[in-house]
Amino acid sequence: MDTILVVNAGSSSVKFQIFSIEGEGRLRRQIKGQIDGIGSRPRLRASGVRGEPLAHRAYPIELVSDVPTAMGIAGGWLRDELGMSPMAVGHRVVHGGPDYDRPVLIDHGVVARLERLVALAPIHQPHNLAPVRSLLANFPTLPQVACFDTAFHRTRDAVSDLYAIPHQLYAEGVRRYGFHGLSYEYIAKTLPHVAPEIAKGRVIVAHLGSGASMCALKGGRSIESTMGFTALDGLPMGTRPGQIDPGVVLYLISEKGMSPAKVQDFLYRDCGLKGLSGVSNDMRELEASEDPKAKLAIDYFVYRVGLDAGMLAAALQGLDAFVFTAGIGENSTRIRARIVDQLRWLGVTLSADENSRNAQLISRSDSRIPVYIIPTDEELMIAKHTLSLLLERPSPNARHNNVS
Ligand code: AMP
Repeated sequence: MDTILVVNAGSSSVKFQIFSIEGEGRLRRQIKGQIDGIGSRPRLRASGVRGEPLAHRAYPIELVSDVPTAMGIAGGWLRDELGMSPMAVGHRVVHGGPDYDRPVLIDHGVVARLERLVALAPIHQPHNLAPVRSLLANFPTLPQVACFDTAFHRTRDAVSDLYAIPHQLYAEGVRRYGFHGLSYEYIAKTLPHVAPEIAKGRVIVAHLGSGASMCALKGGRSIESTMGFTALDGLPMGTRPGQIDPGVVLYLISEKGMSPAKVQDFLYRDCGLKGLSGVSNDMRELEASEDPKAKLAIDYFVYRVGLDAGMLAAALQGLDAFVFTAGIGENSTRIRARIVDQLRWLGVTLSADENSRNAQLISRSDSRIPVYIIPTDEELMIAKHTLSLLLERPSPNARHNNVS
């Protein structure tokens, strides 16, 4: 079976999926897995097409001390126990910087350019690149593709790409990049099958997961988004604050004596729903909590989604549809209902029945603007990009590579 391996590596986990390549370049998901607890309590868990468990095992901490060793264990398991030798590997890489507006086949030069972007995504980029480097060293002929969270937004107009700071910083790469681009690209490609006319129009997509942002799509193209230079901006998230006056950062440094590293840690790990509630970063736990601060954190989340939806509707000069996606957007009936209520000034009305059964169309028939739930699939997007770059290569000769 010809397969593609999709890798999404973070600081303490490596998530992976295997897609088989079927006739006419169609892809079918075969395996979903992850190694988490890297450096603490490493575990490999994987399941098959129908969710059937394939592996659930623990490893001693010294055996899986970092992302490359975790990648090696996952690759060894795929090869030795399932007989799978992927033809290519597609990686999620959070930052493509100003230059990459599409996925790219990886070589040493690409890795060097992506390493220069670590400062722009210090929490994600180094971990995304770690398995890339180790695969490049161990399997130099195995095709690898980098797929960027920023690429989908690179076609935006200058005014939505800028900050009002001296131009030299823009030239250096201080720009409003926007993230979750693979998710938005998937939705933009799926929407024409769901609502062909609407897909040509003005759509807000709300990617509400533990990371959260929204994107304004015009004719399937990103024209604005709530995230900026880093994945800290915009909506409040599980542990990130979302939009915050930079004066707060200055206050943390000058009055609280926090170092840049401490501020970074604070903003990425201790704010957002977790910081505000003091209860949890997990929306399910907040919804289940009786604590008034959990309720306040939810109120803030809903309020900010409404506020930023207004901003995006202004960028679009109107609105033809609103789409929910990602963990909260796809699953939380209550949060969706509250957000739609926040949008009622736009003439949006919700069908409680359709919303409670997570239907694809959850607005009422008399709603001025339809509201959809479209489950996202960033991994499929990565697999598709990887396959198309593989097919574009002059002489694909990767059959004999193994990943271990
Ligand atoms: P993601 O990052 O897309 O996996 O989304 C994770 C977020 O989705 C977490 O805050 C979860 O609590 C939230 N989530 C997942 N399922 C539900 C649900 N049924 N109700 C509320 N929140 C959910």
